[in-house]
Amino acid sequence: MRKRILLLFFLASMVLFYSCQLDLNRDQVDSKSTEPIETSHNPELERNKKSSEREKTESENLESDIELVSPNIEKTVYLTFDDGPTSVTTDILDALHQFNAEATFFMLEPLMRDMPEVVTKIVEAGHAVGLHGVTHNKEHFYQSEQSALEEMMTAQKTLQQITGIRSNLIRTPYGSVPYLTNSFRDILDSRGFKLWDWNVDSSDWSLSSGQYVETVINQIENLVKADVAPIILMHDKQKTAEHLPILLTYLSDQGYQMKRMEENMLPYNFNCYTRCHRLTVQK
Ligand SMILES: [Zn+2]
Repeated sequence: MRKRILLLFFLASMVLFYSCQLDLNRDQVDSKSTEPIETSHNPELERNKKSSEREKTESENLESDIELVSPNIEKTVYLTFDDGPTSVTTDILDALHQFNAEATFFMLEPLMRDMPEVVTKIVEAGHAVGLHGVTHNKEHFYQSEQSALEEMMTAQKTLQQITGIRSNLIRTPYGSVPYLTNSFRDILDSRGFKLWDWNVDSSDWSLSSGQYVETVINQIENLVKADVAPIILMHDKQKTAEHLPILLTYLSDQGYQMKRMEENMLPYNFNCYTRCHRLTVQK
């Protein structure tokens, strides 16, 4: 009798033990199956995910200053025309159109006001528009950080009134060296302006007739050997316009693309090194 009771007790214990084991296993299965769902609804993780996505977007924006591509990877030149608009701008536009070329025009504010219809034509033709100030007078422009900034802001406002485009692309009169000291650069930079100098000087203002074309071609060939993308300074003037098709024929035959500056490009400008000084302390 006692043996039978002990056997029943043993059997009952075994049943209880296995039923507990079963419940335990079921809990484990349940917890495993719910884990991923709980994770995906974890608000803390969602917050972290969103914040990392936001950081990614911000860092992408910071990287939006696109560097110029090596001319040995992509044959590109950047044509720039200063001091316009003028009565020959439309001739320049015709030549550019003929060769499917883009360019950038750094324009003077009073001339934009005189010839708004030409400014509009430049934009309609798909070229970039930039600012070259108001007076083109170095004594005035480089007099102070404030005078340089005001000239560019005045030109920016006029261009925007004419075209609706708020351009930050600037070229200072006669280039940034020597009068654009670091304090000038910092102020223009803090207002979002993108300063562009050049690395090919056409000297089209001093060379007679079409000689500038040859000097530009020589400089382009040297720069390409040095793996530097050419940025060509020219002027919006009659002699330049007359001989422009010769230069464009060369560039086109050599397989160059002629592109405009974009706001998100990392600008090329002359480095001060020890060369910059304020106009007022000039000896
Ligand atoms: Zn100029």
